[in-house]
Amino acid sequence: MPATPAWPPDSSPRLFADQVLGCGTQLRLDGAQAHYLLSVMRVKDGDTVRLFDDRTGEWRAVATQVRKRDLTLEVTDQLRDREIVPDLWLCIAPTKKGRIDWVIEKACELGVDRILPVLTRRTVVDRLNLDRLRAHAVEAAEQCGRTALPALAEPVKLSAMLRDWPAERTLFFADETGGVPAVEAMRSRPGPAAILIGPEGGFDAEERDLVRAHLGAIGVSLGPRILRADTAAAAAVTLWMAAAGDWRG
Ligand code: SAM
Repeated sequence: MPATPAWPPDSSPRLFADQVLGCGTQLRLDGAQAHYLLSVMRVKDGDTVRLFDDRTGEWRAVATQVRKRDLTLEVTDQLRDREIVPDLWLCIAPTKKGRIDWVIEKACELGVDRILPVLTRRTVVDRLNLDRLRAHAVEAAEQCGRTALPALAEPVKLSAMLRDWPAERTLFFADETGGVPAVEAMRSRPGPAAILIGPEGGFDAEERDLVRAHLGAIGVSLGPRILRADTAAAAAVTLWMAAAGDWRG
């Protein structure tokens, strides 16, 4: 069942709760989430807040015991089941802080199921703050209405990723030196998929040969211009969602 955005869009605040929710669940909130509800969204006693837990779906909750810095949310009923997002992975060589944050946010909004940071020879970033990136994914999910968070995997070396690659999953290798037009390739290979995006400096020749030689990989072109890695990631995911994902309606 593709994701079903709630129409008309519900303007009540929406938060991720990192626990299994159910009717009658009570959450006592303070800190950043309480600040957001009380000071930004001006939530009062009796107001509705939507919660999702990345396990059971989305729930309606009512604000009670609202105080200056904290409040309680009591879950009343379920609004939606947890969605099944399209089976797409984004494998991307980490770029600088602000840019990789943007990629995580866009990948979440666009419907990616799993994000895999890939370490290549020209990768400029060797350490990633996964907690910070997960926080970006949660924020994007809260905003775009997702009920399932994208999984964020530990970084892996390109060679190890290819060695352990699942046979049933097609790897669309975004190659700026040329390839099959991306939409054409994506339409012709339905099923579990992944998109591989290189670092700002690109893959070196040996890496390119290694990927191209991989049985599950197909080199795709994203047009005649050299895109920045984050642009290439957003463009490739968008094309896949339209060609093979849940944008086909
Ligand atoms: N090495 C390149 C250069 O400096 O000439 C640029 C690499 S590009 C900034 C980063 C990554 O985005 C590439 O490794 C590739 O995965 C993807 N990319 C950028 N433009 C592309 C295109 N026109 N077609 C396919 N992939 C592209």
